Amino acid sequence: MEESKPKLNLAVYWAAACGGCCVSVLDVHEKLFDITAAADLVFWPIALDTKYKDVEAMPDNFIDIMLYNGAVRNSENEHLAKLLRKKSKLLIAYGSCAHLGGIPGLANFSTREDIFRRVYEESESVINPENSRPLSEYTVKEGQLTIPVFYNDVRSLSQVVDVDYSIPGCPPQTERLLEVFTAIVSGAELPPKGSVIGAGNKAQCDECIRKKTENKHVKKFYRPWEIQDDGETCFMEQGILCMGPATRSGCGYRCIKGNAPCRGCYGPPSDITDPGAKMMSTIASIVDEKEAENIKRVLEDIVDPAGFFYRFSLPVALIRRKLL
Ligand code: SF4
Ligand code: SF4
Repeated sequence: MEESKPKLNLAVYWAAACGGCCVSVLDVHEKLFDITAAADLVFWPIALDTKYKDVEAMPDNFIDIMLYNGAVRNSENEHLAKLLRKKSKLLIAYGSCAHLGGIPGLANFSTREDIFRRVYEESESVINPENSRPLSEYTVKEGQLTIPVFYNDVRSLSQVVDVDYSIPGCPPQTERLLEVFTAIVSGAELPPKGSVIGAGNKAQCDECIRKKTENKHVKKFYRPWEIQDDGETCFMEQGILCMGPATRSGCGYRCIKGNAPCRGCYGPPSDITDPGAKMMSTIASIVDEKEAENIKRVLEDIVDPAGFFYRFSLPVALIRRKLL
């Protein structure tokens, strides 16, 4: 990277996240020197003690590349999404949670009330005879205390603000992040706004190294630990559910290389609207039974189909959430 170019301002923020996306940024290892040669890190809560008021004081569009990871689950996440949108030239949804809602988005199978009841009343380790719940504002003699408002819905970043690009993955592959960063720094032409970058646009199955045949006859589905995988045949042909048919390529099929089926963290490619619908149609095409009762028996092997199909994408899926 050329050091003579003016340095960019780079920022990373975590919202409703596990920290894995920030670790994937740290995983650049010694390439961090290349990154810091080309860009100053101006905000990154996991690594720097920059305060929100410092971000508020930045001029609009001050941040050249903003990697926002995590879903939008509460009022703090939403406030920062809007603030960082204003302060950033390129706002990138980094990782499945920001891109699609991700693992936190599975909470949309519950309601806020379900979650609060479980956590503050029913949990085995809780003693709360008055069934107290968190209040977003509380006055004590020293003044008013506030905590973020916990929303009923988990949302992806693009459901809250305008997003320039999304880099998928849980977390994204660090190599893809470096490719994207290098492309931006070198002034390369970027794809149209709104694109998914740092990934392919085929289905995982199109690049998968496992042996596939046209001879798909599944009479039983197994969880991975219930069967000895042969290590070379397509998981689906062995009756092991794999999200490859409904998942975007680009991760280097690392799970599959490690003999684990694809979990779908890159989300669907652009020609698939809904990963659950795609998986249902794939499953319907390989179940080798004709009688309704037998088909039902095979399908009953699939534990938590909605959770499996929408593990990373429920907030942006057609079904989106459990209705009240
Ligand atoms: S995308 Fe995955 S690694 Fe990143 S914050 Fe969400 S759960 Fe963690
Ligand atoms: S279903 Fe999974 S194992 Fe089979 S080809 Fe697709 S990605 Fe590979």
